[in-house]
Amino acid sequence: MTYMANLGQPVCLVGYIWYVEDTKKILVDSGGTVEQLTKNGLPAYELQTLDSGLKKLGITVNDIDLIIQTHLHLDHVALASRFPNAHVIVQKRELDFARNPHPIWEGLYDRKLFENLNFEVIDGDLRISEDINILFTPGHSPGGQSVSVKTETGTAVITGLCSILDNYNPSPLPDGKTIAALAPTIHSDLFQAYDSIARIKELADMILPIHDPTFLSKESIP
Ligand SMILES: [Zn+2]
Repeated sequence: MTYMANLGQPVCLVGYIWYVEDTKKILVDSGGTVEQLTKNGLPAYELQTLDSGLKKLGITVNDIDLIIQTHLHLDHVALASRFPNAHVIVQKRELDFARNPHPIWEGLYDRKLFENLNFEVIDGDLRISEDINILFTPGHSPGGQSVSVKTETGTAVITGLCSILDNYNPSPLPDGKTIAALAPTIHSDLFQAYDSIARIKELADMILPIHDPTFLSKESIP
């Protein structure tokens, strides 16, 4: 998860679907499946099904208006086709790459998961409402995007890079040096990833990295 740091330390990751309620009912990302992860040799189990999560919120798949895809890696888009009334915002650079990935990343994109989605393709930042903004944050993937949400206690940013909290506030390196940010080990552009993390840190009062287990114990943010 952290490029050139924490080598050899096992890390436990979580995959989230985030629900954001504004005038619209919005999801950020649409999940992965245990089957995908185990097929790739990662030990995985399901913590909550999509339907039980929605049920807790008193909604169903039919109620979701909008899905903002941080990116199209298969562990983030697997369940998008389950939302019949949602349009799906994706960055142009992400969709172009996902449709024709570099051979080394063919395993990370599965065209059948996204080819029939009702896409709204954007290029760069986009204001969704007064309180919700999409930020173009490439580097983990060519067209990664993050979502900032104004809450009662400050701005929360759901990150568009597969990352954990240590990417944003790294522990000191073994030689005692500290570094402001650690790019994810999986990246399409190392320096863009670093810059995107710096941008998120600048804007966010709360950073919500999309694989950090911290938020498992929280029912809502803040
Ligand atoms: Zn991921």
